[in-house]
Amino acid sequence: MKNRTNIVILTLIVAILCGCKSKRTITTEKSKNPTEAVLYSDYFTNGTMRYDFYHSGDSDEEYYTFDCVKREGAWAGSKIALINPFDYGEQFFRIIDAKSNKIIFKNNYCTLFNEWQTTPEAATIHRSFPEGVIFPEPKNDFIIEIYARNKITKEMEKKHSHLVKVTDYNIRPYRSLYSSVEIHIGGNIENCLDIVLLPDGFTTDEKDKFMAACEMWCSSLFTYSPFKENKNRINIRAVWAASDDSGISEPGHGKWHNTLLNVEFFTFGSERYQMTSEFQTVRDLASKVPYESIFILTNTDKYGGGGIYNFYGLGSAGKTGRTGEVYVHEFGHSLMGLGDEYVEVGNTVSAMYPADKEPWEANLTTFVNFNGKWENMISQDTPIPTPFEEGMLTMPQEKLTIGAYEGGGYLERGIYRPTPQCMMNQLRDFCPVCQKAIIEYLNYLCQ
Ligand SMILES: [Zn+2]
Repeated sequence: MKNRTNIVILTLIVAILCGCKSKRTITTEKSKNPTEAVLYSDYFTNGTMRYDFYHSGDSDEEYYTFDCVKREGAWAGSKIALINPFDYGEQFFRIIDAKSNKIIFKNNYCTLFNEWQTTPEAATIHRSFPEGVIFPEPKNDFIIEIYARNKITKEMEKKHSHLVKVTDYNIRPYRSLYSSVEIHIGGNIENCLDIVLLPDGFTTDEKDKFMAACEMWCSSLFTYSPFKENKNRINIRAVWAASDDSGISEPGHGKWHNTLLNVEFFTFGSERYQMTSEFQTVRDLASKVPYESIFILTNTDKYGGGGIYNFYGLGSAGKTGRTGEVYVHEFGHSLMGLGDEYVEVGNTVSAMYPADKEPWEANLTTFVNFNGKWENMISQDTPIPTPFEEGMLTMPQEKLTIGAYEGGGYLERGIYRPTPQCMMNQLRDFCPVCQKAIIEYLNYLCQ
């Protein structure tokens, strides 16, 4: 009976988490001058600039159309960590000083559009998704370039380039009218990871419910290592904004709610995949406070959510059994693109993880390029691949050996995960490999 219960719980968790896939591939970015230091004060003000555009195309092609540039509030990111050195994500953008041609900022990310491209619909129709990126406000004219991975070679290719003149009178100041609350302050904005929590589907009368969910999100995050040891390097703020209707739309069940961010279940036909495609509205809301990472809390008891690297994470705020764990799991995706370590039974081939490519995620490998991942965390006497033995799913996590266990990234074969248990698998503690990767990412962001 106990085993059966475990299977039911595991199946449920897999069903919840199935919605948070990201189409993931590998590349080696070739920057012009990736190691050349940039002195912040030479190039940037203390403000934030936002570049909004539409990401369009179908399953084979993608293109970008410009929307607008905005000036927002204080820059929340580091003033030292300006060129993201990690090889994470399906896309990156960079800012080039027009006069010197020097790369002065770069960040990596993934998008909902990338995932939509893998759906059957993308083979039949073109669609546009609103997107936007933020960066410290340049003092001088700059070129913004957006790169995306080639579908075949997986190499990053330049897709968009735009010279922006900082004296352009069309650059609009954006001032959010919403209110905000500090949930947890660990330190100043430039040396901390700044997280913003946003509501969707809460009416004016439900503010207290949202605030309680924010407190729960915060306490959930600080339950787990390495976040609990890094409280003083994390700030969490919430923006309050009411929706007209209470609850979240479920198109597949004919339920529609008029909510501020228009979050919906049934994203891309997957009932538990709860997301919004209105990313510019999400950024409008977030801009009330200094932020680097966005998490949306939705007013529903229904399981579901998702997380996309440097885009946003999302989870239900209702009283669902493992809400706190799901928050932290999705945040693992949205903060730094940790891969799902679980398997979908019967799934053996995926365009997301081709066998001849190394995944860019820190916690998955195909052995195509295992060097530089967690190879040096595996002891000499541990065989690779590491055999999975009966009982490993239930034994205390600290007794598990770090190795390379087959199965992960939804696939049964050909891809390997560090340990049999992890937050990115069964919502347990983060495995040592994920913890190390999170610490390295925090060390970068909090310079
Ligand atoms: Zn892990």
